[in-house]
This record gives sequence, structure tokens and C-alpha cells, in this order.
Amino acid sequence: MIYDFIAIGAGPFNLGLACLTDPIPEVNGIILEQKERFDWHPGMLIDGTTLQTPFLGDLVTLADPTSRFSFLNYAKLHNRIYSFYIREDLFLFRNEYNQYCRWAAEQLPNVLFGQTVDRVEYDEVGRCYRAHSRDRNGCRHSHSARKLVIGTGNAPHVPECVKGDMDHATHSSTYLADKARLQARRSITVVGSGQSAAEIFRDLLQESDRHGYHLNWITRSPRYFPLELTKLTLEMTSPDYADYFFSLPAEERERLNAYLSPLIHCFYAYDLAFMPHGENLILVLEDHVPVRVVMKDIGEEIGILNGDIVLPEEIARISFSVREDMKPNCIFTDVFDCFFRHLSALLVEVGLLDERRFWALVAECIETYQASHPEYGAKYVRYDLFASQFALNCLNRLQIANNQQMLDLADPEKSLQFIGTLDNPLAIVRQGAGSA
Ligand SMILES: Cc1cc2nc3c(=O)[nH]c(=O)nc-3n(C[C@H](O)[C@H](O)[C@H](O)COP(=O)(O)OP(=O)(O)OC[C@H]3O[C@@H](n4cnc5c(N)ncnc54)[C@H](O)[C@@H]3O)c2cc1C
Repeated sequence: MIYDFIAIGAGPFNLGLACLTDPIPEVNGIILEQKERFDWHPGMLIDGTTLQTPFLGDLVTLADPTSRFSFLNYAKLHNRIYSFYIREDLFLFRNEYNQYCRWAAEQLPNVLFGQTVDRVEYDEVGRCYRAHSRDRNGCRHSHSARKLVIGTGNAPHVPECVKGDMDHATHSSTYLADKARLQARRSITVVGSGQSAAEIFRDLLQESDRHGYHLNWITRSPRYFPLELTKLTLEMTSPDYADYFFSLPAEERERLNAYLSPLIHCFYAYDLAFMPHGENLILVLEDHVPVRVVMKDIGEEIGILNGDIVLPEEIARISFSVREDMKPNCIFTDVFDCFFRHLSALLVEVGLLDERRFWALVAECIETYQASHPEYGAKYVRYDLFASQFALNCLNRLQIANNQQMLDLADPEKSLQFIGTLDNPLAIVRQGAGSA
């Protein structure tokens, strides 16, 4: 028999797929899961911990609010709907979510537990995938399907320096199983600053008096960061955003990512600004696609926009103070106005990309960077690259005034000539997205 799909792994992702396809008789799929039953991050089902996402993001509701596999239906059938309503909390307890998913999985005959998939091949003749699995008794099975869905989740990451000493260490994924062993120690150190580390620290702290251990918490991050759950981040998970993202031209996205992300990073992480235009720039291509940029000959066209930083004498001149509101101009002027404005016009001229989609790509590149670097969150507000306008900095006038030396290196800001403002294309794109 050839199924329509084989899904490997029965975590929430593939379980959602199983629930949503269950009422469609024309779609015939099978889900293979290595565990003996549904168990969602069992090492971290600490009492009282909740989901980070509202209950409407359960297995089915956002795609099909009428599905019998909704959390609300589960709550109703288990006589929990009023207590859930009275609790007035959109965020389910993690234990409760696990019970709910297990309830859904138990009703789906095509979710096969105890099947570890260890090989997948594509049959060119039969034009189907074949997944080979092993069950708990070591017996082998194989299933064929036209489509393959891989939902195998993440593997725990143990840093190299700890791997040889796991008798004394444990990963958060097995925390609850190892908790008693940890608590028998005189001292426990939690490493990392993510949500899991915070939950483990809190859990151990509550019982530290009873067990008498010393508790430390260390992280390489400069501080602890709040959970990234802004509306923008949530919007990135919507089907509309996914459709929009995949409709964007891949090569242009790669080009922007290779060029713009490092510039944004230098600015937010180090106050470091370049003049990142033609003669200063080498694009490194792989298979005709830009993968990174090298900045060259940047002797005079580089600055650290922080007069307080102490640098070695030979390069001390590259650090200088700039008015706070002028700092993002190193991106607004040197990238948006002096480069992207012309690049966008060329892309329109050759019929590759219209202006709105080009600036949407730029916005997406910056949003992606910002979402993956929440540690600079305060700077994203202070130096807002999505501001509605920015100062028009007339660099060409500097050239005309003195073509030997455009900037007074002792005080570069003083040399600049600002004439009015420009509308920021990113703000326009964002307003457009907001009203759509
Ligand atoms: C402690 C913790 C809390 C989290 N809280 C949230 C939250 O509140 N909200 C949120 O959106 N995300 C949360 N996450 C992120 C988490 O990744 C997702 O919740 C979710 O588990 C991802 O679902 P998934 O189906 O993609 O993968 P997983 O849940 O990881 O499931 C993958 C499944 O594939 C199986 N599998 C792997 N390899 C094979 C194989 N070869 N053969 C057969 N089966 C295999 C595994 O046994 C597993 O059951 C949390 C993560 C952790 C660790």
C-alpha cells in the first residue's frame, strides 16, 4: 500500500497534521513515533510551568476551530471547561497540554508508537518514499508514501566541555528524571539563560533549604532576557506570513542577508559603522549566490560611534561621539539612501523585483536579525530602523566642498550636511503590512 504521506515523529507538529487530516477520507497517512506513547518534553514537565503560547495554538484550532481535537473539546469531555474558564489564563499548564495531546494521539489509529525510523529512501520507479523502522522487539517494518513529513524535533545539545563528565551533569531534557541525583550534591550550577534554565533554577531554589545544597546560575549572556513574544514575532508564525515569505525571491533574500545582516550586527553589537558601498565591498559568491561580504580599504570609512570607548592609539581616531538620534544614520544614509535606493531602481528596471517587495525583503532581513538577537532589544527601540523618517544627509555635497578629504576626521559629525528628511521606505512597508 502507498500512503499519501508518512510523517516521522509524533510531536505536536505531526500530531496536529494527524488530527487535521483525520476527517478527510481522501487523505491517507501514517505517523511513526519512536516513543511508546505521546510524551512532550517529559524532563521539563515541572509542576506549575505553563506553555509560552496561548491555548488557541493547540493542535487544531487556528486551522480548524470546528475540529473534535480542539483543547476546548478535550476540556469539555474531561469536565475541565469551567475550571479553565474561571482560571482566566490563556496559557495551559505544560502537564495539562501533555495530557491533552496524549488524549488526541490515543484516538488516532494511524499514529504508530514504538517505531524508530532509521532509514528513508526514494523509489524512483514507484515515485514514492519508503521509510524503514524498527519496533521495540527489534522487528523491522517498511512503509511507502508519496510525501514525507519530517517532524523529529530537536536533539538536546550538550557542550563539548561537559560531554566527558556527564556523571556530574545533566541536560534539561532529562531534568526531572535526574533531579533527585542532582539534589544529593552539595552544590548545583545551572548553565544557560533560557526559559528552561530559569525554570530549573526556580524549581531547585524552592527546595534548596530542605536539601541544603548551594545553588549557582551562570550564563555567557550579559543579562537575562524576557521571552520574545511580541505581536511581530507571533505574526511570523501565521500562514499569511509563511506564504508571503516563500513568495519572495530566494536569491535576493540571500544577497540581502549576506550583505545587510553583518552591517546591522556591527552597528547594534559594537556601534561599528562602515561606508558599505561599491568600492569598499567584495561579495563572495557560491554557485552565483552571495554568501558573505568582505569589507576592504575602509581606513577612513569606518567609525565606532561611541566616543567613550578606549582603543589602541593607532586606531583611536575611529571612535567618536555622535548625537544619539543620528546614530542609525549609518544605516539610513549609507545603506538605505546611498545604496539600496539605487539597487531597488535597477531591480525595477530589469524587471526582477518591484520596489515594495524589495523593501519588504529589507524589512524581513532586519526583523529576522532582531528576532534572533533579543539581547540588543533596547537598542532596536532606541535606534529604530523602522522610524517613519530619517535625516537627509547630503554626502555628495561633502564631495563637492572638498574632494580631497570629505570628512574632518577629528570631528566627522561636524562636516555632515543635513537638509530636511526622507520618508523611510521600511515604515511604509510596515504600515502596508499592518493594514493588510
Ligand atoms: C521545555 C520546553 C518547553 C517548550 N514550550 C513551548 C511552548 O510553550 N510553545 C511552543 O510553541 N514551543 C515550545 N517549545 C518548543 C518545542 O520545540 C515545541 O513545543 C514542539 O515540541 C515542537 O514540536 P515538534 O513536533 O516539531 O517536535 P518534538 O516535540 O520534538 O517531537 C519530535 C518527535 O519526533 C520523534 N522522533 C525523533 N526522531 C525519530 C525517529 N527517527 N523515528 C521516529 N520518531 C522520531 C521524537 O521522539 C519526538 O516525539 C518548548 C520546548 C521545550 C524544550
